[in-house]
Amino acid sequence: ENNHFNEQDKKRLALAATYSGKLLEAHLLHIQNQTDSLTGLKNRRGFYDYYENKILLSEASQAKSVIMCDIDFFKSVNDTYGHNAGDDVLKYVSSILTKCVDTNGEIFRWGGEEFIILLPNYNLKQTAELAENIRYTIEQSTCISDNIMIHLTMSFGVKQLELEKTLEENIKEVDDKLYKAKQTGRNKVIQ
Ligand code: GH3
Ligand code: MG
Ligand code: MG
Repeated sequence: ENNHFNEQDKKRLALAATYSGKLLEAHLLHIQNQTDSLTGLKNRRGFYDYYENKILLSEASQAKSVIMCDIDFFKSVNDTYGHNAGDDVLKYVSSILTKCVDTNGEIFRWGGEEFIILLPNYNLKQTAELAENIRYTIEQSTCISDNIMIHLTMSFGVKQLELEKTLEENIKEVDDKLYKAKQTGRNKVIQ
């Protein structure tokens, strides 16, 4: 009798199994909610989560930085080659960002053709070098969509995060730098 589950044990086990399932379901939904379905990158919700948990709660002595970047003249890709080609370009750019950033940070699709990269252990110099490396890689390579070769460039704003400022202030400052890159000829990094 000691080796057998009684009715109450079975009820408890069933309850535990149901509860675990619900937790798993909630966890998967959480991941899904934070993922951009086109590129597989994290989305804006994922950004806020990462900022709070990986930036604000990480080693304070380490410099932390942000890159904001945007595809140049992306609207003309859609207008010239169609929306599907535009989607291919977004996936292609995401794959280059993923390769270049590697395990040094996290990439987020901030909006349409705009991306944010958070680097928890990078100072301004390292971050500007990474942005320049991405810029050059994009400029030198070609996206192929439906046998069409599409040449791209991107513009970048780079900033070391100031944690005594709000997230919004930090974002505004890096966005201003990206804007300046756009205003002064695109295909460049402004720090
Ligand atoms: P700039 O160099 O100043 O950044 O110019 P731009 O043409 O890249 O920027 P603009 O804001 O004028 O156009 C962005 C376009 O991106 C407009 C919008 O239709 C397109 N877009 C946004 N999201 C998606 C998407 O998921 N797929 C596709 N194919 N296009 C998208
Ligand atoms: Mg653009
Ligand atoms: Mg844009």
